Amino acid sequence: MERLEERAKRERLVCDGGMGTQLHSLGLAPGECPEKWCLEKPELVRSVHQAYRDAGSAIVETNTFGGNRYKLAHYGLEGEVEAINRAGAALAREVAGDTQYVMASLGPTGAFMEPYGDETEQAFYDAFAAQARAFEAGGADAVIVETMMAIEECCVAVRAVRENTGLTCLASFTFDPQPDGGYASMMGVTPEQFAGQALAAGAQIIGANCGTGSDHMVGIIARLRAVTQVPLIAMPNAGMPVLVNGNTVFPESPEEMASKAGRLAGAGASILGGCCGTTPAHIAAMARQLKQVR
Ligand SMILES: [Zn+2]
Repeated sequence: MERLEERAKRERLVCDGGMGTQLHSLGLAPGECPEKWCLEKPELVRSVHQAYRDAGSAIVETNTFGGNRYKLAHYGLEGEVEAINRAGAALAREVAGDTQYVMASLGPTGAFMEPYGDETEQAFYDAFAAQARAFEAGGADAVIVETMMAIEECCVAVRAVRENTGLTCLASFTFDPQPDGGYASMMGVTPEQFAGQALAAGAQIIGANCGTGSDHMVGIIARLRAVTQVPLIAMPNAGMPVLVNGNTVFPESPEEMASKAGRLAGAGASILGGCCGTTPAHIAAMARQLKQVR
């Protein structure tokens, strides 16, 4: 297959939506490790991949977001990094065959590097490199370093992917709307700062996921597009979350979210999917919408 970063330069691609909500609807209990299902309930993880493929996604994203040793240690699974991430990539590959890309999800550690915390840069690097090598062994095409808010952690992860594998590396940051109308991550990083540093670290595709819905995501993508020509990925939530009876709900229906996909593409996104609150129905509606604006 043509490499993802090349394909995304000349073609718009639809990507998956949320994984967590789908796993919970299949019985994942609160407090249970989602990534462990790659080993224990592979048929259910595969069924989520299949639902997104049937919805029109060109990219299968793995169930490995919290698969680094720091996150797995919360469940006593830090010894399973290789097995879980390799299995996660292999499961996605089974569904993707040779017609879809497998994009492995690599999320934050939840820990902090010096001087903000106790962890060294080398420890983070080693943790991300172990995950990335397992993705490649399992048959992934690409790794998305995603939902990052600290630029140092993001860049260490990107370097670990590029220096230890031959996989395409995407970097996706999470920005929040600011009172002045701009955007910044929880750690104060702007889209321009993120773009400059992630690209210098070796990211081949950059973008944003989570944090906002499509309306704000259009503004974030436009700011990234103003400073780089590499392909951009946009994975918004299904709107900004609202609290209903103490539960966080993402309010946008598939049709509502899909109606904004054309604006996201117009702002410069060439890979479009969804994050929290998005389902196969959202992705199917987006895929239909994007065919019309093509
Ligand atoms: Zn999200």
